[in-house]
Amino acid sequence: MTEFELIDRYFRRPARRARLGIGDDCALLAPRAGHALAVSTDMLVAGRHFVDDADPASLGWKTLAVNLSDLAAIGARPLGFTLALALPRIDEPWLAAFASGLFACADAHDCELVGGDTTRGPLNLCVTVFGEVVEAEALRRDRADDGDDVWVSGALGRAGLALRRIGDDIDASLRDALDRPVPRVALGLALAGVAHAAVDVSDGLAQDLGHILDASGRGATIDVATLPTGSELASLASDDRERLALTAGDDYELCFTAPVAARDAVLAAARSAGTAVTRIGTVTAQPGLVLRNAAAADPALAGFDHFA
Ligand code: ADP
Ligand code: MG
Repeated sequence: MTEFELIDRYFRRPARRARLGIGDDCALLAPRAGHALAVSTDMLVAGRHFVDDADPASLGWKTLAVNLSDLAAIGARPLGFTLALALPRIDEPWLAAFASGLFACADAHDCELVGGDTTRGPLNLCVTVFGEVVEAEALRRDRADDGDDVWVSGALGRAGLALRRIGDDIDASLRDALDRPVPRVALGLALAGVAHAAVDVSDGLAQDLGHILDASGRGATIDVATLPTGSELASLASDDRERLALTAGDDYELCFTAPVAARDAVLAAARSAGTAVTRIGTVTAQPGLVLRNAAAADPALAGFDHFA
């Protein structure tokens, strides 16, 4: 099979929203008038982000999902994506499964594949997503303000727990938290123009919220007892559960700040998106992340001195 046959068989679909899709030298995307183009790239590398024999359908889903999560975190509507693929060999069952997971995620979030590159090499999956957002409504990291509420969507620590239990016989829903994260695209869209700043939680809440605080020149007080954690974490010791909620990555929830006056609007946005949100703290003028009501003075958390 040639490279072009491979693209035709597994990746080429008729363009819907794009003016020009796969098959030319460039794709042509047309954001609506008054919108800025939102662009983000994320790469998944075998051996670093996943094991070589990872389920290809889940891999296809996650490759796109982690990119869509970045669009969600800035409040953008997905337009399309490109896929740069390095494959050690042409393995048709693997490709068919990978494409099915990829397109399941693409269809669920109305984001079409518009181009890419295919080459032989160590397995490497790189997606670039394109979206559109009204520039003044973009949920930029540097827009948090004193007195803003800090919110988080969904539940934290589930992917981290799944990672810890890899190889064990765990529930499919917990495995999916790690393998098939659901990007909060609808929530991000509903929050654009309502919230001030947002970030997606890929590296742990404390670190990712830290990016907002650093960019905004602010601090925050977080009430650790209010952090939403998955039911699967209920049987853990509270200090362990808190550590997962604050430091485990890969949940791809949104952490965002919004003015107190927007509380009702935030709850309405969450309802319209079908995603739960929880208020977990307050943005402060004083830089630094202060953790209130933690079960234990955790040495792992004491390492956050760059917030101090
Ligand atoms: P070029 O040589 O002009 O860069 P290629 O020969 O690499 O183009 O690719 C031919 C067409 O197929 C282009 O439109 C490109 O965007 C698309 N394409 C290549 N690889 C992929 C892929 N993995 N997924 C989707 N489209 C792809
Ligand atoms: Mg060309």
